[in-house]
Amino acid sequence: MNLVLFGPPGAGKGTQAKRLVAERGWMQLSTGDMLREARKAGTELGNKVAAIMDRGDLVSDAIVIALIEERLPQAEAAGGAIFDGFPRTVAQAEALDALLEGRGAKIDAVVRLVVDQNELVERMARRAEEEGRADDTVEAFKTRLDNYNAQTAPLIPYYAEQGKVTDVDGMGGIEDVAARIAAALDD
Ligand code: AMP
Repeated sequence: MNLVLFGPPGAGKGTQAKRLVAERGWMQLSTGDMLREARKAGTELGNKVAAIMDRGDLVSDAIVIALIEERLPQAEAAGGAIFDGFPRTVAQAEALDALLEGRGAKIDAVVRLVVDQNELVERMARRAEEEGRADDTVEAFKTRLDNYNAQTAPLIPYYAEQGKVTDVDGMGGIEDVAARIAAALDD
């Protein structure tokens, strides 16, 4: 199973991906988590992306595609990949399709978490307090939303043309959203 969890920053992709890992044994592939780990470890890559991430801008396609490529064999062994925060541009989606095709696989489903903008801003403010993420400041969050609308939202028609997109209401509690995702996947 290759599942893309799609949605704007703050939609709950990471939270729901972790639930799917626990429930179904699939592997979460979060490029955001990988980049944050690289920063924490102080690697060359981590240092290179730090300022870009803190501004809320996207790092280069080549960087995130390489991170994903490295982990595909492990995800395959787990029986499934949950792409979380990747792909974020059409170029990334095309690269992912090519990588999967080379392994005799494909994207099976795209679940889009639909959350209204006011709720996103509230969740961001909460997460800034709880996790202290540098890119959860009001300004960086606005940049992230702008980048999402300009560069990532075009992935919806990209995947919709392939008949792969299922919209899931992402409002409300974590359990409720999880139940809706499970229903969509088992459909
Ligand atoms: P996230 O945790 O998914 O919100 O990602 C945090 C930050 O990491 C983003 O704001 C970007 O700066 C960077 N990032 C994560 N995934 C990607 C991606 N697929 N393409 C470009 N930049 C990314």
